[in-house]
Amino acid sequence: MISLHVRKGYDLKIAGKPSIEVEVLEKPDSVAVLPEKIPFIKPRLKIEIGDNVKAGSILFEDKRNSDLKFLSPGGGKVAQINFGRRRVIKEIVIKLDSDEKYEEIEPVSENLLEHIEKEKLVNKIMAGGLWPFIRELPFRDIAEPHVTPPAIFINLCSQEPFQPEAEVYLDGKSDLFKFGIKILQKLANDRVYIFAPPDSSVVLDKLRGSITHVVYGKYPAYDPGVFLYYTRKSPSDNRAWYISGQDVLLLAHLLKYGRYPTLRTVVLAGQSVDDRKHIQTRLGAPIAHIVKGNNRDNDLRYIVGGVFKGYAKTATSYLGLYETSLTLIPEGREKEFFGFLRPGFSKSSFSRTFLSIFNTSELKMNCNLHGEERACVNCGYCCEVCPVDILPQFTLKSILADEVEESLAHGLLDCVECGLCTYVCPSKIELCAAFKGAKEAYYKESW
Ligand code: SF4
Ligand code: SF4
Repeated sequence: MISLHVRKGYDLKIAGKPSIEVEVLEKPDSVAVLPEKIPFIKPRLKIEIGDNVKAGSILFEDKRNSDLKFLSPGGGKVAQINFGRRRVIKEIVIKLDSDEKYEEIEPVSENLLEHIEKEKLVNKIMAGGLWPFIRELPFRDIAEPHVTPPAIFINLCSQEPFQPEAEVYLDGKSDLFKFGIKILQKLANDRVYIFAPPDSSVVLDKLRGSITHVVYGKYPAYDPGVFLYYTRKSPSDNRAWYISGQDVLLLAHLLKYGRYPTLRTVVLAGQSVDDRKHIQTRLGAPIAHIVKGNNRDNDLRYIVGGVFKGYAKTATSYLGLYETSLTLIPEGREKEFFGFLRPGFSKSSFSRTFLSIFNTSELKMNCNLHGEERACVNCGYCCEVCPVDILPQFTLKSILADEVEESLAHGLLDCVECGLCTYVCPSKIELCAAFKGAKEAYYKESW
């Protein structure tokens, strides 16, 4: 096992961590897929409102590659297809039957896996609808099928507040996980790297023989892009694939049982949640079903997918395909009189002018920015935290000046979109969003 020490990053001391207790929720009335939240795809619908579907029936395909199918996470009737601006498909809602039917594919046994041709394995995963869970660096699009990647990275956890703990979602599933590793080894000619935190748990101890790297460092040390930055040996490594530990279980489930997996372990967290814990529910579960009277305020931000990289949703929406986290924190709309002049002991901030730098406890936060975007003051905070040594303030200047080559020279493509630079910036500059947008634009130009 190799030790990897990530030099930079930042651990946010935010209140609202979930316990490792797991509640198994009853079946929701409906589930959904959110095409809008799957990066880069161009969906072509294959269903209409009122159609009956099984769990694993095709809902839509990607116009860029019609073999890339997106399947229904439940059996029932297509109840809604909600569109956003410019006819972007936001949600496809399936009202679940009490007795759901499943599409079946031929399972792959451990023995068969050893002998199956790689091409056939890829086709099986594509037909089973789980290929979208395998993604490619540095743009984080769905991996290009039918090529051999330089490597596949599996990240078992994330330090982003808040994500499911590996010891919870892997509990009792070590054998299924090892089967998933074998599938991925077949796709990458054995170049599969699994990285985990140094702290030991009974569950992770069972996987010690499979874990290739132990990573030490602050958020986002376990991001696949950071792992790539520290381990790459040549430019061709930049197109490595990655998949989360929990999604490895989905992949293994599909091939072992021949059915589209529909269960997800998610966390319900944040200071505005009464009972913070892990929850076993359905893929694409309704947010209201997960929260279920567990919130104590009305004016809340529902963050799906972690406080740095996630996005805001309403209580009437659903979890996306990749999402395993729901965090509730107050909007914090009330104005604080001269709040910026009162460096509090209990205010979370990266700035050393706040007394909270000496406070080691987890602090309450809200979504109030306490001011608007201002000019860069060259404080250097963004450089201090960036895990991949980009100089964010200079990279931003190149992007704003349309100097593509210069921004690439600064390391734009290494940006792991962790959101730390935006968080620490005292001038409230949306650095991460600018980098993400610039990467996307550069990628789309190459299509
Ligand atoms: S530039 Fe910002 S978003 Fe990108 S990796 Fe560095 S800190 Fe994270
Ligand atoms: S953190 Fe913000 S203000 Fe400070 S150098 Fe970076 S961009 Fe400029």
